[in-house]
Amino acid sequence: MTDHPMPICGDDYPLTVKQRALMTLVHRLGRESFAPRATQLDRDAQFPFANYADMRRAGLLGLCVPESHGGHGADYATYALVSAEIGRYCGATALTFNMHVCTTLWSGLLSEDLDMSDEQRASHQSCQHLHFDRVIREGAIYAQPFSEGGAAAAGAAPFGTTAVRAEGGWRISGKKIFASLSDAADYFGVLCTERKPDTQLSRRDTLYLAVPRHAPGLTVEGTWDPLGMRATVSRNLVFQDVFVPDEAALMPQGLYFQAATRWPHMFMTLSPTYMGIAQAAYDFTVAYLRGEIAGTGPVKRRQFATKQIAVAEMFIKLEQTRNLFLRAIEDARVDPSKSTRLRAYAAQYTIMENAQDLARLAIRTCGGQSMLKSLPLERLYRDARCGSLMLPWTAELCMDRIGREALYEPGETDA
Ligand SMILES: Cc1cc2nc3c(=O)[nH]c(=O)nc-3n(C[C@H](O)[C@H](O)[C@H](O)COP(=O)(O)OP(=O)(O)OC[C@H]3O[C@@H](n4cnc5c(N)ncnc54)[C@H](O)[C@@H]3O)c2cc1C
Repeated sequence: MTDHPMPICGDDYPLTVKQRALMTLVHRLGRESFAPRATQLDRDAQFPFANYADMRRAGLLGLCVPESHGGHGADYATYALVSAEIGRYCGATALTFNMHVCTTLWSGLLSEDLDMSDEQRASHQSCQHLHFDRVIREGAIYAQPFSEGGAAAAGAAPFGTTAVRAEGGWRISGKKIFASLSDAADYFGVLCTERKPDTQLSRRDTLYLAVPRHAPGLTVEGTWDPLGMRATVSRNLVFQDVFVPDEAALMPQGLYFQAATRWPHMFMTLSPTYMGIAQAAYDFTVAYLRGEIAGTGPVKRRQFATKQIAVAEMFIKLEQTRNLFLRAIEDARVDPSKSTRLRAYAAQYTIMENAQDLARLAIRTCGGQSMLKSLPLERLYRDARCGSLMLPWTAELCMDRIGREALYEPGETDA
């Protein structure tokens, strides 16, 4: 099969020196190590421990940890490019890498853009030091279990998992569903609502706390046998009066709410995985039609006009997706304009929907042999299906936000 030397962004995209080095690194890891392991991990719904050992050795767990703390100090766009490149080879590795890396991105670079009192900034810096040190020195993995099965993960209600103030820290109770990395994370970055006496739960009181895997009162439960993204191993977490000290804070009190309001691209970070899957579906189709996929015979199918038209259709869809992706990841910033915010929703929607469509077209174009489980395309097809379901920016909710925000200015009503 053709080695795809072209990075996910195309060979004419102006990568920085740092980006080029990182992309070369993950391209090699992805092709030589992640892709050969993906079939078994998917079949057995097993977490990609070996891929994480490779990434730990290569320093990639510290991708978005600031350089001053020993990491690569990658910014948002660099994270997105690296993640998309990983997604070409193993979707589940890229998706779980998102949960880990974005924990450090949110509590690092992104939080620097937000308003904090001097006191909050000082305590945040000491918490950052603790969390970043764990990643860099101990190779710790962080997960992001937010979903609860209610409206909270969509941003429409306070989290039902709550924390009450205790001597020197917090006591957490509640349940999270779909906790990717449930078999692997050393720390679960839990979003929960501070429960205050005689006060209703409020989204403004969201806390973001890292709970160690072996904290007393925390149990991982349930089975995991889904359609796609099987190697994410996203089981449930139950918290029964789990104590964490103050330094467990990944963001100071009130900061998550501010971030969710002012830094919307923080919710677009799942999409690079699916950009990678879209590219992989296209790459497979080209290689298959060129007769380069081992085990499918040396027969070339590229001479048929119908195949050429199908590839053209796929290429156009892929380029539309890629260009919106590249624009949106460059856009990411605090307090974006209305156009920038709407473009982010449109990019997320397009990537998640087009990844599925490209996988569908790939199977239709390549034909029956291409959907055998010995080949990666049927896994890409199943993995691609998951993207538009992922909160808070599901395809439906992106449409919902675009429609509302295009038609109403902030504060406007029809009353
Ligand atoms: C492979 C995989 C890995 C995942 N990993 C994680 C993880 O690590 N951490 C994590 O927190 N979650 C994770 N999730 C969960 C995911 O983000 C969703 O929260 C989960 O799929 C929601 O399932 P649900 O059936 O409860 O959705 P529901 O909340 O019932 O939503 C169903 C649909 O209704 C729509 N909807 C929901 N709320 C509203 C609303 N208020 N207004 C209008 N429409 C709405 C949305 O379009 C949504 O797709 C993962 C999911 C998958 C598939």
